[in-house]
Formats: sequence, structure tokens, C-alpha cells
Amino acid sequence: MDNTTPTHFVRKIIDDDIRQGRCPDGIHTRFPPEPNGFLHIGHAKAICLNFGMAAEYRGKCNLRFDDTNPEKEDTKYVEAIQDDVRWLGFDWEDRLFFASDYFARLFGFAVELIEQGKAYVDSMSAEQIREYRGTLTEPGTDSPWRDRPVAENLDLFHRMKAGEFADGELVLRAKIDMAAANLNMRDPVIYRIRRTSHYRTGDDWCIYPMYDFTQCLSDALEHVTHSLCSLEFEDHRPLYDWFIDNLDTPSRPRQYEFARLNLEYTVLSKRKLIELVEDGHMGGWDDPRMPTLSGLRRRGFTPGSIREFCERIGLTKNDTWIDAGVLEHVIRDELSVAAPRRMAVLRPLKVVIDNYPDDKEEMLDAANHPQDPSMGTRKVPFSKVLYIERDDFMEDAPKKFFRLAPGREVRLRYAYFITCNEVVRDDKTGEVIELRCSHDPATRGGSAPDGRKVKGTLHWVSAGHARRAQARLYDRLFSAANPDRGDQDWKSCINPDSLETLDGCLIEPDLAQAEPGQRFQFERLGYFCADREDWRQDRPVFNRIVTLRDTWAKITAAGSSPRRQGSR
Ligand code: ATP
Ligand code: MG
Repeated sequence: MDNTTPTHFVRKIIDDDIRQGRCPDGIHTRFPPEPNGFLHIGHAKAICLNFGMAAEYRGKCNLRFDDTNPEKEDTKYVEAIQDDVRWLGFDWEDRLFFASDYFARLFGFAVELIEQGKAYVDSMSAEQIREYRGTLTEPGTDSPWRDRPVAENLDLFHRMKAGEFADGELVLRAKIDMAAANLNMRDPVIYRIRRTSHYRTGDDWCIYPMYDFTQCLSDALEHVTHSLCSLEFEDHRPLYDWFIDNLDTPSRPRQYEFARLNLEYTVLSKRKLIELVEDGHMGGWDDPRMPTLSGLRRRGFTPGSIREFCERIGLTKNDTWIDAGVLEHVIRDELSVAAPRRMAVLRPLKVVIDNYPDDKEEMLDAANHPQDPSMGTRKVPFSKVLYIERDDFMEDAPKKFFRLAPGREVRLRYAYFITCNEVVRDDKTGEVIELRCSHDPATRGGSAPDGRKVKGTLHWVSAGHARRAQARLYDRLFSAANPDRGDQDWKSCINPDSLETLDGCLIEPDLAQAEPGQRFQFERLGYFCADREDWRQDRPVFNRIVTLRDTWAKITAAGSSPRRQGSR
């Protein structure tokens, strides 16, 4: 760890364990997703932590699918999750595991508990078990089956496995303490009957182990040293330890909990994300508005920006909400340095330069990055008929409006100063459809030899050269910072304007040759990414990753800086 990396409590724990000689074989972590949905940015926090700690301490990190719930799991999620972890930049090498591969060994552990008199088969219904469980203030009541003899428990458990009973007819429970203050310790169910085909083990099993039982024992089988999980499992830790302490396991993992990531204006729960997809609110798991890793990737976020985000938000034991702007801030920082600049017009307004020859065409030099000459230059075609952004013209402009207005002069980026002389309207609607302008030929390149200044610099494209494209602009997915807040229905605050599709955009010709996934800054408009799915040669599609912080940052002729984007 270098001196600039902020430390956190997990690093301190690991440092201490190493110092005390508790990890003679190095540290070993794991990321244990359930394959019942796509990964979201909250998972990225857990991935970066687990893989990050392993890398930092030259240890190992496993990818383990926690797949003990046959109803919801699917191979398509297993594949998507692997793609996402790899995309984030992490490698589990040969350590890809599935909890379902341990079903036989977990069954053996359960038998071991029964033989020790520490587990019993209960004939009560799920509802009765709930009633007997007690509450936070009242102790639970022992099940009438709690003292079933070991031999009978063994016989019934084997017959459960053999499929002799219906779903829910019997369960296996750990025999701990029905009066424990911690409800998780009140004889938790560890096996249940589910006659559902499993996506990997098919119909081999009709009994499935519960999460708490599976998680700790899988960790122990894999020699995991530090089992890092989110805070909601804190109350499960005594149970985790109870299983490990009461069974003859090959290793002794320890569980540590950290706060989940909560991100404003979105939801980070697979169940809710599934609902958004299945109810058709979103185009799919990779809809660029989704907080999923596949959505963020398609939107144009880089793996590095997500790792950097996870580092910046830190790691604590207190529930925290992260401002939606933090993620945008990180990607802006990266792209302001790395993304080549281009010009595109989202909502075009026609401009005719009356004093420019009809058939003339010039190729003007444009810097690919105003602060980084190593990114080179390109040629941008200029001609008599151009398009500018509709918003960059105002007929009755206030004094502070530094863009184009009747009688005012502005700079066209990399080109000339132009002055607006006349406004052409549609006869019927009265809408402004064209501006008649003149240019000053002496200002070629964007500065005036007489030293005269203009306040505004506009982006533009040449009508005869520009290509048509679609731009997709995104806003927050929800209109409430915390859509899950108790007094509202989370779906009622979906932002109806989270996507705006503009079909009439005009782009610099060379942008039409972009590779899907390539990122650019469209000057004054934001950072955009060529869409990976819907891109067509005859219809380029660009997703806006993020706006520029200050859309109207003044761009000067000498190519000096649009302000550093997004600084806080
Ligand atoms: P969800 O509530 O979205 O279904 P989950 O915790 O059930 O999430 P898992 O597949 O079990 O999803 O998660 C794998 C790991 O990712 C777990 O160890 C969990 O602690 C961690 N994780 C999930 N969500 C977050 C989050 N928002 N912040 C940090 N870690 C998370
Ligand atoms: Mg889970």
C-alpha cells in the first residue's frame, strides 16, 4: 500500500492478523454473488474490496457463486457476472467455485451436526416455526420435535434427501437456543425441501441448504481467511461462528462486515432492478440508466472510473449515502484528460454565411485536445452552410447572453468570427429556421488581427459534410434521492424524463467512423460514448455519459482551456 492510499478498518484487521501470524498461508478472500441478477455498482464495492485486498497483500480471491436457491438462479446470470468482474479488471485465476458443488459435503456437515445432537428434523410448518420463534422482546418456545432421538433424525434427514416428503413437510434445524437474544440463534433452519430443478445440479437434490449454513462452510472449505460481507450479516456472525466451531472444518475463516453502498437517485437491489427490467421500465439490464455494471459500461463508464469511485467512497461500518455526483465527478476527471474532442450539434439551427463563396470548402485545423498537443489535430470541413446549436441563438437576447443574436458577433470554434445579420422564419409557424450571417475572412483560425474580442465561441458542423446521428441523453433514474424511503412507493418516483432521444443530431464526419464503445467529448455538450448495441454504419448512436459541469464554459480561440471539468 502506498502512502497516498487511505487506510480503512479492514486493512487494519489484516495488518494485525499478519503481524500476529494468524495467516501463515497468506490472506484469502472471496466475492460470493448469488446468480439471480446482474451485478450493480454496490457489488463493485464488494468486488474491489475483496479482490483489492487480495492483490494488495499478495493473497488470493475466489469467485464463488452462492447458488443454493434453485428458484431464481440461472446460467445467464453466472455468465454475465463473470463478464462484469473481468471487465472491472479482476482475475480469479483457477478459483471459480460454486456452492452447489459442495452440496454433498454440506450434507455431510449436516449429518455431523445431527450425530452430535446439534441438529434435529422438525415437523412443524413454516408458520408454526415462525410463531414459536418469539420476538425481539420475548424468548421463543422449543419445538415439540426438538428432542427427537439422533437415530430418528438421521433416518428422517436421509429420507428427506431421498424425496420421501413434500416441500415444507420437514426441515432440518440447528439446535442452539430458543431463548437467545439474537433471533438468528433460535434454532435456525439449515435445510429445506424444494422440489425445483437447479440450474447446475438438475434434479439431483430436493433438499437445499440455507444461506447461513452454506456461506460459512463454503468459506471454510475454500480456506478463506477474511470473509468480508455487508453489514446486514453482522447479526449472523454468531451463527457463522457456531457452525464453524461445532464442525470439523478444514479451516477457520472470520467474518467482517462493512457498510453497503447506497447511491442517491437510484436503487441497488437486484430484486428491484429485476422489476424495472421485467416491467419494461428499462430496455434491459444494460440500459445505460441502470446502476448495473453492464448499464454503466454501455453508458460509457470505464472500469478504472468505477474502481476509482470505490476507492474514493471509502470503507466504513456506518451506513452512508453517496451523492450521485461522485461517480460523475470521477468519470469527468478521467475523460477530461483522455477523451478526444469533437464537434456535434444536438438540435441544429441552419446558418448561411452570405459572404462565403457558394462552392468553396476549407479544411480547418482542429485540436483533438486543447491542453494536450500529443493528441494531435484533425481537419474539420467548413463551408457556406453550417449548423449551430439552436440554444446558441436568441432573438431578444439579454446583455449577458454571449452567444449569437441579431447584430452580435461570435467565434465559430477553429473557424471564423461571424455576425448575425438576418433571421429567417417559417411563414406558417413563425419559428426561426435559418440565420443569415457574414464572416470576417481575416479571423480564420478564430482570432482577429486587430485584437478585437468576442465573448462567445460556438461549436458547429458543415451542412454538406456532417453526418446524421442519434444522441441519447440521460437524467437521473429516480426523482427522489432515496426512492426506498418508507412513506412512498419506490416505483412512483421513477423519473419519466430519464431518457431523451434526439434523432436529428449532426456530427463531424469522422465521428461516423467511431468504434462502438469509443468515447469523445462533444465540445460544450458533454462526454459521449458510441453505443455498443445499436450502432449502425448508417445511423451512429451516441450515449451521453455525463454532461460537462459548466456547459457554457468559455472556450478561447488560442485553444486555452475550457475550465477543468467537474472540480468540486
Ligand atoms: P441485492 O440486495 O442487490 O440482491 P445481495 O447482497 O443479495 O444484493 P449478492 O449476490 O448476495 O447480492 O451479493 C454478493 C456480495 O455483494 C455480498 O457479499 C454483498 O454483501 C455484496 N453487496 C451487495 N450489495 C452491495 C452494496 N450495495 N454495497 C456493498 N456490497 C454489496
Ligand atoms: Mg444475497
